[in-house]
Amino acid sequence: MRKIISVVVPCYNESEALPKFMEELEKVVAGMNYVDFQVVLVNDGSKDNTLEVMKELAAGNSMVKYVSFSRNFGKEAAMYAGLAHADGDYVAIMDADLQDPPEFLEQMYEAVTKEGYDCAAARRVTRKGEPPIRSFFARMFYKLMGKMSKTEVVDGARDFRLMSRKVVDALLECKEYNRFSKGMFGWVGFKTKWIEYENVERVAGQTKWNFWSLFKYSIEGIVAFSTTPLVFASFIGLLFCMIAFIAVIFIVVRKFAFGDPVAGWASMTCIITFIGGLQLFFMGVFGQYLAKTYLEVKNRPIYIVAETDMEGKEGVRYGGRC
Ligand code: UDP
Ligand code: MG
Repeated sequence: MRKIISVVVPCYNESEALPKFMEELEKVVAGMNYVDFQVVLVNDGSKDNTLEVMKELAAGNSMVKYVSFSRNFGKEAAMYAGLAHADGDYVAIMDADLQDPPEFLEQMYEAVTKEGYDCAAARRVTRKGEPPIRSFFARMFYKLMGKMSKTEVVDGARDFRLMSRKVVDALLECKEYNRFSKGMFGWVGFKTKWIEYENVERVAGQTKWNFWSLFKYSIEGIVAFSTTPLVFASFIGLLFCMIAFIAVIFIVVRKFAFGDPVAGWASMTCIITFIGGLQLFFMGVFGQYLAKTYLEVKNRPIYIVAETDMEGKEGVRYGGRC
């Protein structure tokens, strides 16, 4: 029996990049004639004519399938939908902008079939071509995440990877609404081979990330994979109680020993403002966790499919939650 590799491609406004991507992928497919391919293009509510481009590609090549969302649900949802629709024995996730070089597929396939790995993933060792400030904050995030969470989140790891069916099924079992794949890949475990490479710039179109969206994404990662901020809040609270207790003793002793006049109201104001600020900050931290819990208990689907040419996949039309 010939094995099948499903290549999942989340696409948002990728009408320019997608044909170039398919061209490159087809070269790799031709070179790997010992295995069959299926390409699952996921249209994540694009505002340009990405869907038309997908339909054209699907019409011209029987291995190409498409799944189109009713609106933009985000890359995480698009990846989940792709995994849910993929039929392959192995599933690869790749960006449409050729930042994930398709020629790695061969090496990855080798790793999961011959070298005993369950998963082969790409990791950027440089961030050239990226604004330095963005790289700096990205590094900080990975350091912080490493300290706060038991789940391994590898610096520079991309979503680009080839997984065996076992890993894919494990990921599909993680049905949370707030998805942070970089953590989930680590959380499900399995043996992963890391393939290192230099950053490649996108072939066409624009990145969908700005500083603010990356910041929100990093908060999502921390809230999803660590409860350290909550422990930290309790710790700071306890510390302040102790400081206050010592201060009270100090003031009482001073009063009786020296007969203290009323002074120091300015420093008092500073302390009150500081502690007030701290309380609000940690209320915000609790709020983050509460908000995520709220979104989870609603149990809404992760994505909604508007149209697809993958028959027999009706069951996964709503992200498997309803
Ligand atoms: N993407 C998506 N939905 C979104 C944003 C992005 O499916 O809401 C896709 C996008 O089309 C691309 C991949 O996710 O194939 C990576 O996006 P991008 O290149 O903007 O991210 P970067 O490479 O800059 O991290
Ligand atoms: Mg990109």
